[in-house]
Amino acid sequence: MTTNAPPVLILLGPPGAGKGTQARMLEEQFGYVQLSTGDLLRAAVAAGTDAGKAADAVMKAGGLVSDQIVIDILRDRLAEPDCATGVILDGFPRTTVQAKALDALLVESKQRIDSVISLDVDDAAMVTRVAGRYTCASCGEGYHDTFKVPATAGVCDNCGGTDMKRRADDTVEAVGARLEAYHAQTAPLIDYYDGHGVLSRVDAMGQINDVAAALRGLIKSAVPA
Ligand code: AMP
Repeated sequence: MTTNAPPVLILLGPPGAGKGTQARMLEEQFGYVQLSTGDLLRAAVAAGTDAGKAADAVMKAGGLVSDQIVIDILRDRLAEPDCATGVILDGFPRTTVQAKALDALLVESKQRIDSVISLDVDDAAMVTRVAGRYTCASCGEGYHDTFKVPATAGVCDNCGGTDMKRRADDTVEAVGARLEAYHAQTAPLIDYYDGHGVLSRVDAMGQINDVAAALRGLIKSAVPA
């Protein structure tokens, strides 16, 4: 274990808690790489790999993809050179098996988990938040049917793009299943990491910038300068 090993940060939280948004902001601020297993799996589905084919239907239904597939994908991604500046894991681990596999991977790479931050939110609000969201396919700017509509319907405020996309699993039904999976399989990791002395909790129901400020403070005190 070395103190100057690349930092490893984990954002925990149910769908819609803002893990992706916050991870992207932290990536910009600290230069760490955001690793979203959801993004890696969607890329595998789009590329039609064996892992993608196995994951596709499970993801659409809002279930969890098998631990082995996700662990293999994450291990390969962690080995890429850009991860040497540090990583923010967004959506991984989601089960105790994955958490233990991550512990083992980090022993091999002589790294440790610097901080795990649980984004605490209200379940009921999450369904509305997630079920109405969409993004600009060109620049990735996020929108919402109720909370954030573009100035001109169907046209991205940021880049003028007109191709808006919705995730296949952002339906009311799939969000319900994803929340259930979170509570049954992922929420126990809050205690797991608390037991390892690396857990902090943040109220993530507030404004994006306030949550971001809280995360920055926690990370600055967790990661040696
Ligand atoms: P996300 O983009 O993090 O909301 O993930 C979208 C979907 O990908 C999830 O609902 C799961 O089906 C799958 N997925 C992402 N990460 C994991 C993981 N660590 N373990 C199992 N399934 C995952």
